[in-house]
Amino acid sequence: MTNPPMLAQGREYLAIPGPSVIPDAVLQAMHRPAPNIYGGALIDMTATLIPDLKRVARTRHQAAIYICNGHGAWEAALSNVVAPGDKVLIPATGRFGIGWGEMATGLGADVALLDFGRSAPIDIDRVAQALREDTAHSIKAVLAVHVDTSSSVRNDIAALRAAMDAVGHPALLMADCIASLGCDRFEMDAWGVDVMVTACQKGLMVPPGISFVFFNDRAAAKRAAMPRVSRYWDWVPRANPDDFYQYFGGTAPTHHLYGLRAALDMIHNEGLDQVWARHTRLAQAIWTACEIWGQDGDALGLNIREREYRSHAVTSLRLSKGRGANLRDWLSENLGLTLGIGLGMAAPDDPARHDYFRLGHMGHVNGQMILGLLGGIQAGLTALGIPHGPGAVEAAASAIAGR
Ligand SMILES: *Cc1c(COP(=O)(O)O)cnc(C)c1O
Repeated sequence: MTNPPMLAQGREYLAIPGPSVIPDAVLQAMHRPAPNIYGGALIDMTATLIPDLKRVARTRHQAAIYICNGHGAWEAALSNVVAPGDKVLIPATGRFGIGWGEMATGLGADVALLDFGRSAPIDIDRVAQALREDTAHSIKAVLAVHVDTSSSVRNDIAALRAAMDAVGHPALLMADCIASLGCDRFEMDAWGVDVMVTACQKGLMVPPGISFVFFNDRAAAKRAAMPRVSRYWDWVPRANPDDFYQYFGGTAPTHHLYGLRAALDMIHNEGLDQVWARHTRLAQAIWTACEIWGQDGDALGLNIREREYRSHAVTSLRLSKGRGANLRDWLSENLGLTLGIGLGMAAPDDPARHDYFRLGHMGHVNGQMILGLLGGIQAGLTALGIPHGPGAVEAAASAIAGR
């Protein structure tokens, strides 16, 4: 029995882990004529973004805006504090730590990779061991991804800082919060993060195009001691502009700024703690359903076994025999629901790459969307004859109901 494709009509749901669903308020804020960049409302509005961005990052320190995607923010952050020849330590838990490391290599850094595979969090003890062995303090920075969007693992950044302090190692702690900011709890200052990078198209709900680097005084001191920093990536004028153009190293990303203003209003009107609580509850409903589906034989599997290490923004799953891709195709063709492809979980020539898929549940998502997502997956599993445990959607509804 197949469902008629007519059920794909209606509002589509892009449930991939970024870019995320764009709120109507953000779209409407961006739908306007070109504003003047030499005076007027845009200038005053931009100044209001900075404190509100810092509130989302939970930092009192500095923020720089870049017109680029997350990869650009990676390079921006590294350019300010990592000189050619500096050693950086990367505890990788999926594709993104490795990607940040490639960026560092491209800038001439000496990258030491501790690879914890594709289904496990950072082993803090092993990082501590590597730092303890570095008695010369040649490691200048530890680069850690908070939520790895490929594996959907969530790392304990506060514990990583505590381990660095316990060893007495002076390296900077740099965190990638591109997937997690505005979804999973993150506290830059309280957790002792020196540099944090993020981008606008995930928890911040704005179309891709602007990214952010937050940095504290320790990182600023490292920047001041750098032999040189490429002019475009230099965070000093961006964080302390004398002229408006210096925020962006050139023309402002005008419409993105209006979109971001609307998104930050949404986040702060809801309250950041409430935003985190919403993501937590929705993620629990997703896990509940997936765990039940997975009870039947070789059916669906969650990539991260322990709930404690699962992100509240993205969930990586697999269905054997390439059925992950079948499910994705069926849902987009038949229900107007698009799931994320697996990323970095299998080699490009490995047929297992068709097994993996991901659910994005970051940003502008609510209970009915997640129940629609889960009900849709249930329909797909049924239509494709994929064995799955019973009662998953009902249990997810109970989780949404707080029961
Ligand atoms: C999305 C993402 C990136 C890359 O961001 P782009 O905007 O695609 O360059 C890096 N790190 C993490 C954790 C991400 O989720």
